[in-house]
Amino acid sequence: MARILLRFSEEQVSQPIASEIIIKYKVPMAIMSAHINSKGGEILAEIPDDLQDLVVNAFRERGITVSVPKLIEVDSDKCFSCGSCIALCPVEAISTAKDSTVKFDKEKCLGSTCSVCVDVCPARAIKSLKQSNGEQSSNSRKRQ
Ligand code: SF4
Ligand code: SF4
Repeated sequence: MARILLRFSEEQVSQPIASEIIIKYKVPMAIMSAHINSKGGEILAEIPDDLQDLVVNAFRERGITVSVPKLIEVDSDKCFSCGSCIALCPVEAISTAKDSTVKFDKEKCLGSTCSVCVDVCPARAIKSLKQSNGEQSSNSRKRQ
């Protein structure tokens, strides 16, 4: 499965864009997280790998900004195993490995729509990168 991040503007959010695409292309789409209201927002969705290009193009043709979250990366040289990120991860995507280093389960991680661990890390050891445009968020990123 592939994860895509959809950004809707205030004008787009009231339109049935996602449902049109789901019906038209018969796409099974799972919503992993949503931060959206009448002013717009973001939806992290999971779709089959073989439909990714089709679905991404369909959203972009309708003016939706689509990116592919790369999820989370940790700098093991900076991490001092304090456990803050493990305690606060809402989906238990972070755990401690046998060697006491932090490990991420990328199947569980909500990626750049969450970034709780990025913000909480006192060592600034975690960063979130979005593959499609190189956009980067770090501890200094603004909360949404
Ligand atoms: S980004 Fe969120 S879901 Fe992913 S590992 Fe960090 S806290 Fe957990
Ligand atoms: S919050 Fe930062 S320093 Fe603490 S365990 Fe997680 S990655 Fe390591």
